Amino acid sequence: MLNIENLSFSYDQKPVFTGLNLTLSPGERIALMGPSGCGKSTLLQLIAGLLSAKEGTLQKGYSKLSYVFQEPRLFPWLTVKQNLEAVLTSKEDATERIAEALRLVRLSDSADLYPEELSGGMKIRASLARALVNQGDLFLLDEPFASLDLELREEISIALRKELGRRGSSAILVTHHLEDAKRFADRIVLFDDLKK
Ligand code: ADP
Ligand code: MG
Repeated sequence: MLNIENLSFSYDQKPVFTGLNLTLSPGERIALMGPSGCGKSTLLQLIAGLLSAKEGTLQKGYSKLSYVFQEPRLFPWLTVKQNLEAVLTSKEDATERIAEALRLVRLSDSADLYPEELSGGMKIRASLARALVNQGDLFLLDEPFASLDLELREEISIALRKELGRRGSSAILVTHHLEDAKRFADRIVLFDDLKK
């Protein structure tokens, strides 16, 4: 699914990390934990091909990514529902798939709202729903639960684990909460341990 060997990256002259290794099996869901600024978001962007590495190899065995960015990137001129429709790959069962994704993130009542009418946590949940209808085989989830209260984090992390498990999708979840990591992931990976 993914094989990273000896990966190094710098922004201009500023090194972020060197000699990183990570292997992800098909269907495996991991939680990636580490202090702010260690390079977690940078690593996800490298995996997605939005940045390119200075050194090392990154073998990609996935066919489609679903990426939830740390900053929600919704189209401001579209409603929540229209944001989901915009990434649909097929029209088959579109209505049900959208309804199901919105139900999973507890946004069924907000389908017709525009992003500016949503709180920060709701925007991230809408991004998560959009990733779900986008149906990648690898999900990159950059702190999607950060601004949610405890109850929602619990509900959504469990529902998401079940749904990705049912689909057999792989995922890398970046989180600062050990409880979310345990609920969601098969394996917890500490960023520092990738350098060994
Ligand atoms: P994390 O997601 O683990 O908090 P990031 O990957 O966002 O960390 O950032 C890693 C380091 O790279 C930080 O020191 C950050 O300030 C720096 N950084 C992040 N994005 C950029 C950028 N676009 N240009 C220059 N430096 C950056
Ligand atoms: Mg980050």
